[in-house]
Amino acid sequence: MPVDRLLPSAEARELLDLVRDIADRELLPLAASYEREERFPREVFRTLGKAGILGLAYPESQGGGGQPYEVWLQVLEELGARWASVAVGVSVHALTCFPLAGYGTTEQQERWLPEMLGGELLGAYCLSEPDAGSDPGAMRTRAVATDGGYVLDGVKAWVTHGGHADFYTSMVRTSDARSGGISCFLVPADAAGLTADRPEDKMGLTGSTTATMRFEGVRVEADRRMGAEGQGLPIALAALDAGRLGIAAVATGLAQAALEQSVAYAKTRQTFGKAIIDHQGLGFLLADMAAAVQTARTTYLDAARRKDLGMAYAQEASIAKLVATDAAMKVTTDAVQVLGGYGYTRDFPVERFMREAKVMQIFEGTNQIQRMVIARHLAKS
Ligand SMILES: Cc1cc2nc3c(=O)[nH]c(=O)nc-3n(C[C@H](O)[C@H](O)[C@H](O)COP(=O)(O)OP(=O)(O)OC[C@H]3O[C@@H](n4cnc5c(N)ncnc54)[C@H](O)[C@@H]3O)c2cc1C
Repeated sequence: MPVDRLLPSAEARELLDLVRDIADRELLPLAASYEREERFPREVFRTLGKAGILGLAYPESQGGGGQPYEVWLQVLEELGARWASVAVGVSVHALTCFPLAGYGTTEQQERWLPEMLGGELLGAYCLSEPDAGSDPGAMRTRAVATDGGYVLDGVKAWVTHGGHADFYTSMVRTSDARSGGISCFLVPADAAGLTADRPEDKMGLTGSTTATMRFEGVRVEADRRMGAEGQGLPIALAALDAGRLGIAAVATGLAQAALEQSVAYAKTRQTFGKAIIDHQGLGFLLADMAAAVQTARTTYLDAARRKDLGMAYAQEASIAKLVATDAAMKVTTDAVQVLGGYGYTRDFPVERFMREAKVMQIFEGTNQIQRMVIARHLAKS
Protein backbone atom coordinates (compact mmCIF):
# COMPACT_ATOMS: atom_id res chain seq x y z
CA MET A 1 0.00 0.00 0.00
CA PRO A 2 1.41 3.43 -0.95
CA VAL A 3 1.86 5.94 1.86
CA ASP A 4 -1.36 7.94 2.23
CA ARG A 5 0.07 11.41 1.61
CA LEU A 6 -1.24 14.91 2.18
CA LEU A 7 -0.53 16.59 -1.17
CA PRO A 8 -1.39 20.14 -2.26
CA SER A 9 -2.92 19.33 -5.69
CA ALA A 10 -4.23 16.64 -8.03
CA GLU A 11 -1.16 17.30 -10.22
CA ALA A 12 1.11 16.48 -7.28
CA ARG A 13 -0.80 13.25 -6.67
CA GLU A 14 -0.32 12.22 -10.30
CA LEU A 15 3.36 13.09 -10.09
CA LEU A 16 3.81 10.94 -7.00
CA ASP A 17 2.02 8.04 -8.72
CA LEU A 18 4.37 8.41 -11.70
CA VAL A 19 7.46 8.55 -9.48
CA ARG A 20 6.34 5.45 -7.56
CA ASP A 21 5.82 3.64 -10.83
CA ILE A 22 9.27 4.61 -12.19
CA ALA A 23 10.93 3.77 -8.87
CA ASP A 24 9.25 0.35 -8.74
CA ARG A 25 10.31 -0.45 -12.31
CA GLU A 26 13.74 1.19 -12.60
CA LEU A 27 15.19 1.35 -9.07
CA LEU A 28 13.83 -1.41 -6.86
CA PRO A 29 14.84 -4.39 -9.05
CA LEU A 30 18.46 -3.18 -9.27
CA ALA A 31 19.10 -1.95 -5.74
CA ALA A 32 20.23 -5.11 -3.94
CA SER A 33 22.59 -6.37 -6.65
CA TYR A 34 24.17 -2.98 -7.38
CA GLU A 35 24.73 -2.39 -3.66
CA ARG A 36 26.29 -5.84 -3.28
CA GLU A 37 28.55 -5.31 -6.29
CA GLU A 38 29.28 -1.67 -5.31
CA ARG A 39 28.24 -0.47 -8.77
CA PHE A 40 27.30 3.11 -9.50
CA PRO A 41 24.05 3.20 -11.54
CA ARG A 42 24.83 6.11 -13.87
CA GLU A 43 22.12 4.97 -16.34
CA VAL A 44 19.43 5.22 -13.66
CA PHE A 45 20.21 8.94 -13.28
CA ARG A 46 19.77 9.32 -17.06
CA THR A 47 16.36 7.66 -16.82
CA LEU A 48 15.33 9.92 -13.95
CA GLY A 49 16.67 12.95 -15.85
CA LYS A 50 14.64 12.06 -18.95
CA ALA A 51 11.52 11.70 -16.80
CA GLY A 52 12.12 15.29 -15.57
CA ILE A 53 12.70 14.20 -11.96
CA LEU A 54 16.16 15.73 -11.41
CA GLY A 55 14.99 19.32 -11.93
CA LEU A 56 11.57 19.10 -10.26
CA ALA A 57 12.33 21.54 -7.46
CA TYR A 58 13.55 24.34 -9.74
CA PRO A 59 11.36 26.97 -11.48
CA GLU A 60 9.96 26.19 -14.91
CA SER A 61 11.50 29.46 -16.15
CA GLN A 62 14.92 27.86 -15.51
CA GLY A 63 14.01 24.55 -17.13
CA GLY A 64 12.90 22.83 -13.93
CA GLY A 65 9.61 21.23 -12.93
CA GLY A 66 8.30 24.12 -10.82
CA GLN A 67 7.19 21.86 -7.97
CA PRO A 68 6.78 23.10 -4.39
CA TYR A 69 9.42 21.80 -2.01
CA GLU A 70 6.83 19.79 -0.06
CA VAL A 71 6.14 17.80 -3.23
CA TRP A 72 9.81 17.48 -4.21
CA LEU A 73 10.68 16.06 -0.80
CA GLN A 74 7.94 13.47 -1.02
CA VAL A 75 9.34 12.46 -4.41
CA LEU A 76 12.73 11.99 -2.73
CA GLU A 77 11.07 9.98 0.04
CA GLU A 78 9.55 7.61 -2.52
CA LEU A 79 12.94 7.18 -4.21
CA GLY A 80 14.59 6.65 -0.80
CA ALA A 81 12.12 3.88 0.00
CA ARG A 82 13.28 2.00 -3.16
CA TRP A 83 16.99 2.78 -3.29
CA ALA A 84 18.72 5.12 -0.85
CA SER A 85 21.94 5.50 -2.90
CA VAL A 86 20.02 6.83 -5.90
CA ALA A 87 17.77 9.05 -3.78
CA VAL A 88 20.84 10.55 -2.06
CA GLY A 89 22.40 11.08 -5.50
CA VAL A 90 19.29 12.87 -6.76
CA SER A 91 19.26 15.09 -3.68
CA VAL A 92 22.99 15.85 -4.07
CA HIS A 93 22.53 16.62 -7.78
CA ALA A 94 19.80 19.15 -6.89
CA LEU A 95 22.22 20.68 -4.37
CA THR A 96 24.92 21.08 -7.04
CA CYS A 97 22.52 23.13 -9.21
CA PHE A 98 21.62 25.51 -6.36
CA PRO A 99 24.54 28.00 -6.69
CA LEU A 100 24.01 28.47 -10.44
CA ALA A 101 20.21 28.63 -10.18
CA GLY A 102 20.31 31.06 -7.24
CA TYR A 103 23.43 33.14 -7.79
CA GLY A 104 24.52 32.71 -11.43
CA THR A 105 24.03 35.42 -14.05
CA THR A 106 21.33 34.95 -16.70
CA GLU A 107 24.09 34.20 -19.21
CA GLN A 108 25.61 31.49 -16.98
CA GLN A 109 22.18 30.02 -16.30
CA GLU A 110 21.25 29.89 -19.97
CA ARG A 111 24.53 28.21 -20.79
CA TRP A 112 24.58 25.39 -18.24
CA LEU A 113 21.35 25.11 -16.27
CA PRO A 114 19.09 23.37 -18.84
CA GLU A 115 21.44 20.39 -19.17
CA MET A 116 21.97 20.24 -15.41
CA LEU A 117 18.27 20.35 -14.54
CA GLY A 118 17.39 18.13 -17.49
CA GLY A 119 19.73 15.44 -16.18
CA GLU A 120 22.08 15.31 -19.18
CA LEU A 121 24.84 16.42 -16.81
CA LEU A 122 25.28 14.87 -13.36
CA GLY A 123 26.73 17.02 -10.59
CA ALA A 124 28.96 16.59 -7.53
CA TYR A 125 29.32 18.94 -4.57
CA CYS A 126 32.84 19.64 -3.28
CA LEU A 127 32.79 21.35 0.11
CA SER A 128 34.48 18.94 2.52
CA GLU A 129 38.23 18.38 2.69
CA PRO A 130 40.29 15.77 4.55
CA ASP A 131 40.81 18.26 7.42
CA ALA A 132 37.67 20.37 6.97
CA GLY A 133 34.35 18.53 7.31
CA SER A 134 32.20 19.98 10.09
CA ASP A 135 34.28 23.16 9.91
CA PRO A 136 34.33 24.22 6.23
CA GLY A 137 35.94 27.53 7.16
CA ALA A 138 39.14 25.51 7.69
CA MET A 139 39.33 24.56 3.99
CA ARG A 140 42.63 24.96 2.18
CA THR A 141 41.88 24.30 -1.52
CA ARG A 142 42.72 27.55 -3.24
CA ALA A 143 41.88 29.42 -6.45
CA VAL A 144 44.40 31.99 -7.63
CA ALA A 145 43.22 34.60 -10.14
CA THR A 146 45.16 34.59 -13.40
CA ASP A 147 44.54 36.19 -16.79
CA GLY A 148 40.80 35.82 -17.43
CA GLY A 149 40.35 32.97 -14.97
CA TYR A 150 41.52 31.05 -11.91
CA VAL A 151 43.89 28.18 -11.19
CA LEU A 152 42.66 25.73 -8.53
CA ASP A 153 44.89 23.57 -6.31
CA GLY A 154 43.92 21.33 -3.40
CA VAL A 155 42.03 18.25 -2.30
CA LYS A 156 38.29 17.79 -1.78
CA ALA A 157 37.21 14.75 0.25
CA TRP A 158 34.10 12.56 0.36
CA VAL A 159 32.74 13.71 -2.98
CA THR A 160 29.48 11.91 -3.82
CA HIS A 161 29.64 11.00 -7.56
CA GLY A 162 33.39 11.76 -7.51
CA GLY A 163 34.88 10.35 -10.73
CA HIS A 164 31.43 9.93 -12.35
CA ALA A 165 30.07 13.47 -12.32
CA ASP A 166 30.07 15.79 -15.32
CA PHE A 167 30.66 18.91 -13.22
CA TYR A 168 31.90 19.70 -9.71
CA THR A 169 30.29 22.55 -7.78
CA SER A 170 33.35 23.46 -5.73
CA MET A 171 33.90 25.75 -2.76
CA VAL A 172 37.43 27.06 -2.88
CA ARG A 173 39.47 29.64 -0.99
CA THR A 174 40.15 32.88 -2.91
CA SER A 175 41.54 34.74 0.13
CA ASP A 176 42.65 33.95 3.66
CA ALA A 177 39.54 35.43 5.31
CA ARG A 178 38.11 32.44 7.19
CA SER A 179 34.53 32.51 5.93
CA GLY A 180 34.51 35.58 3.63
CA GLY A 181 37.42 34.19 1.61
CA ILE A 182 35.64 31.30 -0.08
CA SER A 183 34.20 31.35 -3.61
CA CYS A 184 32.08 28.91 -5.60
CA PHE A 185 33.14 27.48 -8.98
CA LEU A 186 31.46 25.18 -11.47
CA VAL A 187 34.35 22.97 -12.61
CA PRO A 188 33.81 20.71 -15.64
CA ALA A 189 34.84 17.07 -15.16
CA ASP A 190 37.17 17.20 -18.15
CA ALA A 191 39.22 20.13 -16.80
CA ALA A 192 42.92 19.29 -17.06
CA GLY A 193 44.43 18.49 -13.64
CA LEU A 194 41.17 17.27 -12.03
CA THR A 195 41.38 13.61 -10.97
CA ALA A 196 39.50 11.21 -8.71
CA ASP A 197 41.12 8.83 -6.22
CA ARG A 198 39.99 5.25 -5.82
CA PRO A 199 36.46 5.35 -4.29
CA GLU A 200 36.07 5.00 -0.51
CA ASP A 201 35.42 1.48 0.78
CA LYS A 202 32.24 2.24 2.75
CA MET A 203 30.06 0.43 5.30
CA GLY A 204 26.92 1.09 3.26
CA LEU A 205 25.42 3.19 0.47
CA THR A 206 27.84 1.25 -1.71
CA GLY A 207 25.90 2.00 -4.92
CA SER A 208 26.82 5.65 -4.40
CA THR A 209 30.43 6.38 -5.28
CA THR A 210 32.31 8.57 -2.81
CA ALA A 211 35.81 9.72 -3.79
CA THR A 212 38.51 12.25 -3.03
CA MET A 213 38.98 14.75 -5.88
CA ARG A 214 42.40 16.26 -6.55
CA PHE A 215 42.75 19.70 -8.12
CA GLU A 216 46.26 20.13 -9.51
CA GLY A 217 46.64 23.36 -11.46
CA VAL A 218 43.02 23.17 -12.67
CA ARG A 219 42.34 26.22 -14.83
CA VAL A 220 38.80 27.56 -15.14
CA GLU A 221 37.49 30.63 -16.96
CA ALA A 222 36.31 33.54 -14.79
CA ASP A 223 32.71 32.93 -15.88
CA ARG A 224 32.81 29.58 -14.04
CA ARG A 225 32.60 31.47 -10.72
CA MET A 226 29.06 31.49 -9.26
CA GLY A 227 28.19 34.65 -7.34
CA ALA A 228 30.75 37.18 -6.15
CA GLU A 229 34.26 36.42 -4.98
CA GLY A 230 34.04 35.62 -1.27
CA GLN A 231 30.34 34.68 -1.42
CA GLY A 232 31.01 30.94 -1.58
CA LEU A 233 30.43 29.95 2.05
CA PRO A 234 27.03 31.70 2.40
CA ILE A 235 26.03 30.06 -0.91
CA ALA A 236 27.22 26.65 0.31
CA LEU A 237 25.39 26.98 3.63
CA ALA A 238 22.16 28.14 1.94
CA ALA A 239 22.42 25.17 -0.41
CA LEU A 240 22.86 22.89 2.59
CA ASP A 241 19.68 24.17 4.28
CA ALA A 242 17.74 22.91 1.28
CA GLY A 243 19.95 19.82 0.89
CA ARG A 244 19.44 18.77 4.51
CA LEU A 245 15.73 18.58 3.88
CA GLY A 246 16.47 16.27 0.96
CA ILE A 247 18.45 13.97 3.25
CA ALA A 248 15.64 14.10 5.84
CA ALA A 249 13.19 12.97 3.15
CA VAL A 250 15.46 10.16 1.90
CA ALA A 251 15.98 8.96 5.49
CA THR A 252 12.20 8.94 6.00
CA GLY A 253 11.79 6.81 2.87
CA LEU A 254 14.42 4.39 4.12
CA ALA A 255 12.67 4.14 7.49
CA GLN A 256 9.31 3.63 5.74
CA ALA A 257 10.77 0.73 3.74
CA ALA A 258 12.15 -0.85 6.93
CA LEU A 259 8.79 -0.45 8.63
CA GLU A 260 6.95 -2.08 5.70
CA GLN A 261 9.35 -5.03 5.64
CA SER A 262 8.94 -5.45 9.39
CA VAL A 263 5.14 -5.36 9.39
CA ALA A 264 4.93 -7.82 6.48
CA TYR A 265 7.30 -10.22 8.25
CA ALA A 266 5.61 -9.85 11.64
CA LYS A 267 2.22 -10.75 10.17
CA THR A 268 3.45 -14.09 8.82
CA ARG A 269 6.14 -15.19 11.30
CA GLN A 270 4.61 -17.37 14.01
CA THR A 271 5.87 -18.06 17.53
CA PHE A 272 3.97 -19.54 20.48
CA GLY A 273 1.08 -20.32 18.14
CA LYS A 274 0.43 -16.83 16.77
CA ALA A 275 1.85 -14.17 14.46
CA ILE A 276 4.60 -12.21 16.20
CA ILE A 277 2.74 -8.92 15.48
CA ASP A 278 0.08 -10.19 17.91
CA HIS A 279 2.58 -10.39 20.77
CA GLN A 280 2.17 -7.06 22.53
CA GLY A 281 5.93 -6.65 23.12
CA LEU A 282 6.62 -6.86 19.39
CA GLY A 283 3.49 -4.93 18.38
CA PHE A 284 4.61 -2.02 20.57
CA LEU A 285 8.04 -2.05 18.89
CA LEU A 286 6.29 -1.76 15.50
CA ALA A 287 4.03 0.99 16.84
CA ASP A 288 7.07 3.00 17.96
CA MET A 289 8.63 2.50 14.52
CA ALA A 290 5.47 3.78 12.80
CA ALA A 291 5.38 6.79 15.13
CA ALA A 292 9.02 7.60 14.36
CA VAL A 293 8.44 7.43 10.59
CA GLN A 294 5.36 9.64 10.79
CA THR A 295 7.15 12.15 13.04
CA ALA A 296 10.06 12.32 10.58
CA ARG A 297 7.70 12.94 7.63
CA THR A 298 5.70 15.59 9.47
CA THR A 299 8.85 17.39 10.59
CA TYR A 300 10.42 17.65 7.14
CA LEU A 301 7.09 18.68 5.61
CA ASP A 302 6.71 21.49 8.14
CA ALA A 303 10.12 22.87 7.14
CA ALA A 304 9.33 22.45 3.43
CA ARG A 305 6.04 24.32 3.73
CA ARG A 306 7.83 27.20 5.44
CA LYS A 307 10.33 27.27 2.58
CA ASP A 308 7.49 27.21 0.02
CA LEU A 309 5.88 30.19 1.77
CA GLY A 310 9.16 32.14 1.66
CA MET A 311 9.58 31.94 5.46
CA ALA A 312 12.90 31.32 7.21
CA TYR A 313 13.41 27.57 7.55
CA ALA A 314 17.09 26.94 8.42
CA GLN A 315 16.37 25.93 12.02
CA GLU A 316 13.48 23.71 10.94
CA ALA A 317 15.70 22.12 8.26
CA SER A 318 18.28 21.20 10.91
CA ILE A 319 15.54 19.85 13.18
CA ALA A 320 14.13 17.79 10.29
CA LYS A 321 17.56 16.38 9.37
CA LEU A 322 18.22 15.47 13.02
CA VAL A 323 14.79 13.95 13.69
CA ALA A 324 14.48 12.05 10.39
CA THR A 325 17.96 10.56 10.31
CA ASP A 326 17.86 9.55 13.99
CA ALA A 327 14.45 7.99 13.26
CA ALA A 328 15.89 6.10 10.29
CA MET A 329 18.73 4.76 12.44
CA LYS A 330 16.33 3.62 15.16
CA VAL A 331 13.70 2.17 12.82
CA THR A 332 16.18 0.25 10.65
CA THR A 333 17.92 -1.15 13.75
CA ASP A 334 14.56 -2.23 15.16
CA ALA A 335 13.65 -3.79 11.79
CA VAL A 336 16.64 -6.12 12.15
CA GLN A 337 15.30 -7.02 15.60
CA VAL A 338 11.80 -7.75 14.27
CA LEU A 339 13.22 -10.21 11.74
CA GLY A 340 15.31 -11.93 14.44
CA GLY A 341 18.20 -14.01 13.09
CA TYR A 342 16.98 -13.56 9.52
CA GLY A 343 17.26 -9.80 9.93
CA TYR A 344 20.98 -10.22 10.52
CA THR A 345 21.50 -11.99 7.20
CA ARG A 346 21.87 -10.59 3.70
CA ASP A 347 18.79 -12.60 2.63
CA PHE A 348 16.63 -9.66 3.73
CA PRO A 349 17.31 -5.98 2.98
CA VAL A 350 16.90 -4.66 6.53
CA GLU A 351 20.58 -5.12 7.51
CA ARG A 352 21.50 -3.02 4.43
CA PHE A 353 18.95 -0.39 5.41
CA MET A 354 20.60 -0.20 8.84
CA ARG A 355 24.04 0.35 7.28
CA GLU A 356 22.58 2.96 4.93
CA ALA A 357 20.84 4.83 7.74
CA LYS A 358 24.09 5.35 9.64
CA VAL A 359 25.65 7.68 7.08
CA MET A 360 22.58 9.90 7.05
CA GLN A 361 23.46 10.96 10.61
CA ILE A 362 26.89 11.99 9.30
CA PHE A 363 26.73 13.77 5.93
CA GLU A 364 25.35 17.22 5.06
CA GLY A 365 26.32 18.22 8.59
CA THR A 366 26.59 15.60 11.33
CA ASN A 367 23.72 15.47 13.80
CA GLN A 368 25.99 17.16 16.36
CA ILE A 369 26.33 20.06 13.90
CA GLN A 370 22.54 20.15 13.44
CA ARG A 371 22.19 20.50 17.22
CA MET A 372 24.78 23.29 17.11
CA VAL A 373 22.75 25.12 14.41
CA ILE A 374 19.52 24.69 16.39
CA ALA A 375 21.16 25.90 19.61
CA ARG A 376 22.55 28.98 17.81
CA HIS A 377 19.06 29.84 16.58
CA LEU A 378 17.76 29.46 20.14
CA ALA A 379 20.52 31.70 21.49
CA LYS A 380 19.67 34.40 18.91
CA SER A 381 15.91 34.19 19.48
C1 LIG B 1 29.22 8.72 2.21
C2 LIG B 1 29.56 10.16 2.39
C3 LIG B 1 29.24 11.06 1.37
C4 LIG B 1 29.60 12.39 1.48
N1 LIG B 1 29.34 13.25 0.44
C5 LIG B 1 29.82 14.53 0.48
C6 LIG B 1 29.73 15.37 -0.66
O1 LIG B 1 29.16 15.00 -1.70
N2 LIG B 1 30.29 16.60 -0.61
C7 LIG B 1 30.93 17.05 0.51
O2 LIG B 1 31.40 18.18 0.51
N3 LIG B 1 31.03 16.27 1.62
C8 LIG B 1 30.51 15.01 1.63
N4 LIG B 1 30.63 14.20 2.73
C9 LIG B 1 31.37 14.69 3.89
C10 LIG B 1 30.51 14.90 5.13
O3 LIG B 1 29.68 16.01 4.96
C11 LIG B 1 31.46 15.00 6.32
O4 LIG B 1 31.98 13.71 6.56
C12 LIG B 1 30.78 15.53 7.55
O5 LIG B 1 30.44 16.90 7.39
C13 LIG B 1 31.64 15.38 8.80
O6 LIG B 1 32.94 15.84 8.58
P1 LIG B 1 34.19 14.92 9.02
O7 LIG B 1 33.98 13.59 8.44
O8 LIG B 1 35.42 15.67 8.68
O9 LIG B 1 34.06 14.79 10.59
P2 LIG B 1 34.61 15.83 11.68
O10 LIG B 1 34.22 17.20 11.31
O11 LIG B 1 36.05 15.54 11.91
O12 LIG B 1 33.79 15.39 12.96
C14 LIG B 1 34.14 14.23 13.74
C15 LIG B 1 33.14 14.11 14.89
O13 LIG B 1 33.23 15.28 15.73
C16 LIG B 1 31.95 15.86 15.84
N5 LIG B 1 32.11 17.33 15.92
C17 LIG B 1 32.83 18.12 15.10
N6 LIG B 1 32.75 19.41 15.47
C18 LIG B 1 31.89 19.43 16.53
C19 LIG B 1 31.36 20.47 17.36
N7 LIG B 1 31.63 21.76 17.15
N8 LIG B 1 30.55 20.12 18.38
C20 LIG B 1 30.24 18.81 18.60
N9 LIG B 1 30.69 17.78 17.84
C21 LIG B 1 31.50 18.10 16.83
C22 LIG B 1 31.20 15.44 14.60
O14 LIG B 1 29.80 15.50 14.79
C23 LIG B 1 31.70 14.04 14.42
O15 LIG B 1 30.97 13.16 15.25
C24 LIG B 1 30.25 12.86 2.66
C25 LIG B 1 30.55 11.96 3.68
C26 LIG B 1 30.22 10.64 3.56
C27 LIG B 1 30.58 9.68 4.67
